[in-house]
Order: sequence, then structure tokens, then C-alpha cells
Amino acid sequence: MSDRPAAPRKVRCPMCAGESVYAPSNPFRPFCSERCKLMDLGAWASDQYSIPGAPLERPLDPDPDQSALPSAPKTLQ
Ligand SMILES: [Zn+2]
Repeated sequence: MSDRPAAPRKVRCPMCAGESVYAPSNPFRPFCSERCKLMDLGAWASDQYSIPGAPLERPLDPDPDQSALPSAPKTLQ
């Protein structure tokens, strides 16, 4: 029987890239510390992260048929 100690799994902290214990003993996992977790939450709150390829707003792109052709001049006399 193997008698290996229950070594905690370690991952890389997404915030500081440091070593983080990914175990129930670390309530801030996958972050290494509360500070890194709060920093990540703050980054989201301040909109530092953006999702490329998923624009929230459609760009105001005018219809090419209407923008390319000059509109009929209105005769105002
Ligand atoms: Zn960290």
C-alpha cells in the first residue's frame, strides 16, 4: 500500500502567478491569498477585463446602400 501523504494540490495564482494551495484549507483558491482574490474582483469591477470578440454594443454602422449613394437633394425653394 502506498502511504503517500495528502499533499495539497498547488496551482498557479491567476493574479500574481504565485504558488497557490488548491485545497479546502485555502478559502481563496484558486488565488493564493485574500489580497489576490480581492484584486481580481476589483479588476472585474473596474472593467479591466474585456471579452474580445463579444462586443456588448453593436457598432453604429450605417447601411452602405444609404451612405454610399448620395441622397436625392431636396429642392427647397
Ligand atoms: Zn496571488
